Parts: sequence; structure tokens; C-alpha cells
Amino acid sequence: MAEVIKYGLLGDVGLLERLESSPLTLQSPDLAGVIRRCCEAKARVVEADEFERAKEGGRALLNLGHTFGHAIEQVTGYGTYLHGEAVAIGLVAATRLSVKLGYLMPSHVERVERVLRAHQLPIALREPLALAQLTAAMGRDKKVRAGRLRFVVMRQLGEAITQGDIDPALAEAAFLEVGAVH
Ligand SMILES: [Zn+2]
Repeated sequence: MAEVIKYGLLGDVGLLERLESSPLTLQSPDLAGVIRRCCEAKARVVEADEFERAKEGGRALLNLGHTFGHAIEQVTGYGTYLHGEAVAIGLVAATRLSVKLGYLMPSHVERVERVLRAHQLPIALREPLALAQLTAAMGRDKKVRAGRLRFVVMRQLGEAITQGDIDPALAEAAFLEVGAVH
């Protein structure tokens, strides 16, 4: 379900609004339609970057929340957090980073947290994790290009962009806000 919310955040604010109006469940009458919207959002991103040559944006946008999420999975050992749970926390961190970059407002964080919680997803780490370990894990993430951390952030809810020149302190601050500790 975190991945469904991810598609709303990265490319379909209408989908996000649908998920905000009532939580999606396996019993939702429009489940098939929502899944189709996710596929369409993914197809738009993939078509725009058919040959994976995009320097900015492109297929990397599908990794919204995943640089943070993969770091959580690596540090805790796979199994402590389900992938969707790690991605959910990653989406909150990415939203908080987007606020620090001046793209989003703090009220957007509350909105993202609310929709995640409504889908029984975590919005922060259950147990504190060491920031140093998390940042080291992000450095090992395969989406690092040329030794620099790139992040997928949101210019607005429903529009993700990649950004490569991010001050690492901002990413660390975002991680601290979702439960990492020094
Ligand atoms: Zn994923």
C-alpha cells in the first residue's frame, strides 16, 4: 500500500486525494481502478525515460522514499520492517526533505503522515536507529551517482523530481525527524 501512496505522491495528486478520502483496502470497490492508475503513473514515468538516459527525473522518480527506505532495511536487517513499512517512513523523510528544500510546507508533511497512518503504515522508526549507520547505508545505496547522494524529492504533492546537489545535513535532519538519533 505504501507503493500505491508513492505513485500518488510522485505523479498523480488525484490518486493521492482518492487515498485521502477513504483508505484503500482489498475490499474497496475501486481497487482495480486504483491499481490501474498506479500502472498508468508508472508507464508515464517509464515512457518519458524509455532508454534510462534521463540525467534528471526519469525512472529514478519511481524510487521516491526508497533511498531512505533501503537504508532502514539495510541497517535493521531485512525482516524488521516490511518493505512497505520502510518505504512509508522513507516517504515521510522525503517529504520532510522537500520541506527543507523549500518546495513543500510543513502542512504537507501532516497530510502525507495522515494518509500513511490511515493505511496502517508507520510514519517514524519504531526504535531509534543510529544516524551514522543510516547515512553510511545511504552511501552504499546503488542509486548513488558519481559518489554523490541524489534524492527524489517533491516539488509539490504529485510531482517528484530528482536533485543531486543536496546538502547531506538536510537529509540527515530529515532522518532525525523520523526517529534516527546521533
Ligand atoms: Zn519499493
